[in-house]
Amino acid sequence: MPAKTIMDYAAADFECSCGRRHRTDIRQLLIDDHAISQLPSLVRDQKKADGSGFDPDSQSALIIADDNTWQAAGSTVSQLLTADHIKVSQLVFPGKPDLIPDEKAVFQVITALRPHTAVLIAAGSGTINDLVRFVSYKTQKPYICVPTAPSMDGYASSVAPMIHNNLKTTYETWGAAALVTQPDILASCPSKMLAAGLGDILGKYTALADWRLGGIVEHEYECPLIADMVTKTADRSLSQARQLAGRDPQAVRETMEGLLMTGIAMSYAGNSRPASGAEHHLSHFWEMVLMQKKKPPVLHGSKVGLATPMIASLYHHIQKLQPDFERARKKAARFSFDQWAATIENVYGTGAPEVIALGRKTAKNSPDRTLSRLAAAEKNWEQIRRAAADLVPEPDQIYQALQSVGAPVSPVELGIEDSQVLLAVRHAAEMRDRYTVLQLYTDLDLLDEAESIVTQWL
Ligand SMILES: [Zn+2]
Ligand SMILES: [Zn+2]
Repeated sequence: MPAKTIMDYAAADFECSCGRRHRTDIRQLLIDDHAISQLPSLVRDQKKADGSGFDPDSQSALIIADDNTWQAAGSTVSQLLTADHIKVSQLVFPGKPDLIPDEKAVFQVITALRPHTAVLIAAGSGTINDLVRFVSYKTQKPYICVPTAPSMDGYASSVAPMIHNNLKTTYETWGAAALVTQPDILASCPSKMLAAGLGDILGKYTALADWRLGGIVEHEYECPLIADMVTKTADRSLSQARQLAGRDPQAVRETMEGLLMTGIAMSYAGNSRPASGAEHHLSHFWEMVLMQKKKPPVLHGSKVGLATPMIASLYHHIQKLQPDFERARKKAARFSFDQWAATIENVYGTGAPEVIALGRKTAKNSPDRTLSRLAAAEKNWEQIRRAAADLVPEPDQIYQALQSVGAPVSPVELGIEDSQVLLAVRHAAEMRDRYTVLQLYTDLDLLDEAESIVTQWL
């Protein structure tokens, strides 16, 4: 594919040698120094579901932001639209405490809609975008995404992770009609958001290694082109951490592009495999624990960043590991679903029913499935070792890059207890039916070793 820029990747639609057709949902993607000035014409270009165009005499745009992102971008957007004779209303959430994308927030957005609101504009980072994407889809009014921080890889996504009844649920929605941002806006975001963006990108190393393992052990679909796109993105970010810490505009822009690139990679693959593996499972586990303990939410990329050196060190250990497959097979044969479910009840609390239902539906721990995974792992052990060596950088290198941008590198900085880190290592693999290095350690009956390897990071 003759792709050169991120826009080329976003607009591409082609048959790949992996056997699948790759495309994205992204219709317009603008990142440059004056991108925001394009907003009036982008709003005017929006069409309703019946195909009729935007009518500035009878329709308006609703801008959704919080106090901080209103300052960063929302107010400029409002001024530009007003100057172009487009009617604007706004909903500005408080900057503190952090907005939670739950039923209360959804209600506020719906209440702010006017009969003549035709376009929604999300001026903000992850949470604002998830919230607006959800309401946009439910009301079938297009939305334009104006990211204010390169903090996570979900801007180019079409799903919306929401909080419902205190539980996280991911909804299928649609993508933004246009994604518009400027490096100067991104560069003035809080440092913890830059650090979170780097964390989410560096997590791709272990996500890609997990994907490879899934291909080796469970014959999962793989695409070398997508893996290569994401590896290059991660390499670039790893080598630029210091520049990012100094808010070098080019490094900030490339971080945003890297996050969008992994979003594009997910669209190409048709799932989150290229961007999410065991490091995300740890992050999801901690997110659930923090929510159950009613602790303040933590940026997604911060949790992923914290988890990545831990998972990388599990990979590091594999390079010299000669597992005892016979012992693992004996353990697999002794599996009791009821005993397993009782443990999950204990560990997952109110989140347990979902995890148990997944375990029942997929039979992922049944002796049959575990034994077949073990057989494939034993047969291909050299390939697994090679993947661990080739795909995952030294854990310390990742740790230092994160530390250099001021990312939280110890659990206590995020309000996560050491015991919750070890619980996650032991049980987070149960949250999804997706083969990862944590599943490998579980199958090999090596969770005690996994715990002691991860303890070095506490
Ligand atoms: Zn492909
Ligand atoms: Zn992520």
